[in-house]
Amino acid sequence: MPIKVAVIGRPNVGKSTLFNRLTGTRHALVDDTPGVTRDRREGEGRIADLTFRVIDTAGLEDAFDDSLEARMRRQTERAVEEADIVLMLIDARAGVTPLDAHFADWLRRVRPPVVLLANKCEGRAGMAGLAEAYALGLGDPVPISAEHGEGMGELYDILRKVA
Ligand code: GDP
Ligand code: MG
Repeated sequence: MPIKVAVIGRPNVGKSTLFNRLTGTRHALVDDTPGVTRDRREGEGRIADLTFRVIDTAGLEDAFDDSLEARMRRQTERAVEEADIVLMLIDARAGVTPLDAHFADWLRRVRPPVVLLANKCEGRAGMAGLAEAYALGLGDPVPISAEHGEGMGELYDILRKVA
């Protein structure tokens, strides 16, 4: 049985870009509009010889009456419950936001191991955000660039330990 990897985080951090990279999907559902991924997607991910299931999450268009936090939590809760490992993304260029902190607070209490990925770290623009990310209390953030494919070796090593 391949392991299940849940990709979570606030809108626009690059979850779907990472999903697309890991699964080899070319264009689907990546957009500058926050929350453009309506539904959860699941696919076969691969890095080198390692294969696994990946779950992409989000979906903010659903017109619930309750809070943003509650909506996001409901959409990611199931993915986290069934995952063997959770990849929590932040946008290192934007820095740590209150919503990132909210996710991190919640994730410190879940069952599967959580790895903090500081995305958009290509070049130098992510350095400050990467440093801020230590304060989230999810261990050392791993710098990656989902768009440019950087940090995939580190991600391989992390997933290898779980698989
Ligand atoms: P999601 O809402 O978390 O699924 O985020 P998306 O994958 O839809 O990406 C949101 C925006 O961030 C898009 O404009 C992406 O092109 C951009 N993006 C994603 N990954 C990277 C990255 O590694 N570097 C940079 N600079 N931009 C990225
Ligand atoms: Mg998305």
